[in-house]
Amino acid sequence: MAEHRVVLVGGGHSHVQVLRAFARQPQPLARLTLVSDSLEAPYSGMLPGHIAGLYSREAMHIDLAALAARCGADVVPQAAVGIDRPGRRVVLADGSHLPYDTLSLNIGITPDLSSVTGADRFALALKPIGRLLAKLEGALGSGPPAKAPGQILVIGGGPAGVEVALALRARLAGSEQRPHPWIGIAAGRGLVPRLNPHARGKLARILARKDIEVLPSCRITEVAADGAKAEDGRWIASDLTIMATAARGQPWLAGADLPLSPDGSVLVRPTLASTGDDAVFATGDCAELVGQRLDKAGVYAVRQGPVLAQNLRRRIRGEPPMAYRPQARALAILSTGDGRAVASWGDRIAVEGRWVWWWKDWIDRRFVEGFSSP
Ligand SMILES: Cc1cc2nc3c(=O)[nH]c(=O)nc-3n(C[C@H](O)[C@H](O)[C@H](O)COP(=O)(O)OP(=O)(O)OC[C@H]3O[C@@H](n4cnc5c(N)ncnc54)[C@H](O)[C@@H]3O)c2cc1C
Repeated sequence: MAEHRVVLVGGGHSHVQVLRAFARQPQPLARLTLVSDSLEAPYSGMLPGHIAGLYSREAMHIDLAALAARCGADVVPQAAVGIDRPGRRVVLADGSHLPYDTLSLNIGITPDLSSVTGADRFALALKPIGRLLAKLEGALGSGPPAKAPGQILVIGGGPAGVEVALALRARLAGSEQRPHPWIGIAAGRGLVPRLNPHARGKLARILARKDIEVLPSCRITEVAADGAKAEDGRWIASDLTIMATAARGQPWLAGADLPLSPDGSVLVRPTLASTGDDAVFATGDCAELVGQRLDKAGVYAVRQGPVLAQNLRRRIRGEPPMAYRPQARALAILSTGDGRAVASWGDRIAVEGRWVWWWKDWIDRRFVEGFSSP
C-alpha cells in the first residue's frame, strides 16, 4: 500500500502533541512532514514570565526539529502561503509545492492591525512571538535595561495585554532610570471582560498598586512614533506601543476556498476537519468550531491535540473520526510578573497569590518539558 502523506502546517500546541504521539506510537504507512516558519515553538503561557525575567528564552520554547526527528517526520523550515486544494498541495513561501493526502493547520492567528492607522509601522504586536521578542530585546536590551522607554502604552485590556503590562513593570523595576516609566493600558473593551468580576477586581487592584494606569473605554484609532490618538481626540504620549488587541486568521487562508468564520478562522466540525473538506484539519486559534465561539486560548489548542492525533491515525486507517468536546469552562491563570498570579474559573471563583503562580509555573513547565524527552 502507498504511504499516506500527512502535512502538518505550523508548530502550534496541537501539532507538537501529534508529533509526540506519533513518536511514541509509530503509525504504519504514515509519512509526516512538518512545515513551520520557525524551528522553535514558543509557549505563550510562559511569555509574560520570560518578559518579566522569570524564564530563560530556552525554557519557553519547544525544539521542533528534535521533536520531528523523534517520529521520523520531515521538516520544511518555511511558511505556508497557500493551499491548492484541487491539486492537494501546500504552497510554500519559496513558491514550491508540497503534496498531501491529509493536511492539518495549527498556525495560530495574526494581529489585526487594520483598524488602527499606523499600527503596522509604529506598534509592536504580540504575535508572532519570535518577532515580538526580537523587537522587545531591541527596545529594552536582554538584561536589566539601563535606559528604558519613558512611556509604554499597551493597547487592549484582555488577559494578554494585562499580563504583558505587568511583566514589563516587573522587568523595568531593575532599570536605573528614575522615575520608572509610565505604563498604561488602553482598555477600549473594558478590563479582562471575559474573566469573572472577582478576578477582574483583583487584577484592577494589582494594576493600581503597581502604578499601571488603566484607561477605560479608550479606543485607539491611530498610532505614531511618539504616541497614540484615541477616538475621543485624546493624545497619549508613548515611546513603546504594544498592540494586544483582537487578531484574525492568516489572510492567505481566504484564498484556499475553505469555509471561514467572520474573523478568518477555518470552520471545523467536532472532528476538527474543515466543514468544507474532510482532508483538511485545523486546530487552535486558526480554527473555529462550528456553532461554538471559543476564546482564542492555548488551552483549547492543547486539548485538541490528542483528538487531532487520533483522527489523523483514523483517517490513515480508513476508520471514522472521533469528536472533540470542549470543556464547558476553562481555567485562566494570569501571571502578575512578581512571582504571584491570579486564577479565574467560571462565573465566580478567583484566587490570587504566590501559590497560584507556583501552580501556573508547574502546569506550564510540565507542558514544555514534556516535549524534550520521549
Ligand atoms: C502574552 C500572551 C499570553 C498568553 N497566555 C495564555 C495562557 O496563559 N493560557 C492560554 O490558554 N492562552 C494564552 N494565550 C493565548 C495563546 O497564545 C494562544 O491561544 C495559543 O498560542 C494558540 O495556540 P495555537 O497552537 O493555535 O497557535 P500558536 O501557538 O500561535 O502556534 C502557531 C505556530 O505556527 C507557526 N506558523 C504560523 N504561521 C505559519 C505559516 N504560515 N506556515 C508555517 N508555520 C506557521 C508559528 O511559528 C507558531 O509556532 C496568551 C497569548 C499571549 C499573546
